[in-house]
Amino acid sequence: MEGLRFECQPGCTACCEVEGQVHITEDDLTQIAEYVGMGREDFERKYVFRTRYLLRLRKPRHAQCHFLKDGGCSIHPVKPVQCRLFPFWPELVESRAQWNRTAKSCPGIHKGPLIQIEAARETAGEMRRAYPALYKNT
Ligand code: SF4
Ligand code: SF4
Repeated sequence: MEGLRFECQPGCTACCEVEGQVHITEDDLTQIAEYVGMGREDFERKYVFRTRYLLRLRKPRHAQCHFLKDGGCSIHPVKPVQCRLFPFWPELVESRAQWNRTAKSCPGIHKGPLIQIEAARETAGEMRRAYPALYKNT
């Protein structure tokens, strides 16, 4: 791939509504808790599921994310790394097929400026560094 086109579409929240997990980093946890005015431990108890190597946001009963409110992300300035970097995730940047498949649910893919593949890979590298347990075998 030489480059990828992407431009997030105003008013769209499709990626927040797709079935999936929202992983967070320890820094995300600290920043989001502070942003919503909660102590870190209280926030974790209420909103976070912790396994040995990963943290992820708990899901509400009939939605994908507690923080999708009034048609937008209510924690936008401190949104988790994976939300901030989407769709420049390693598994999408490295596979034209996956990138094209994701375009069916993300209307921003194939639109906007051409982003050089090196720049896209650099962004994807931030994902790898943020969530080493997710990418340890790739
Ligand atoms: S689905 Fe794509 S266009 Fe829509 S908000 Fe997410 S990244 Fe932006
Ligand atoms: S944290 Fe914000 S951007 Fe991420 S899935 Fe939830 S509402 Fe969407």
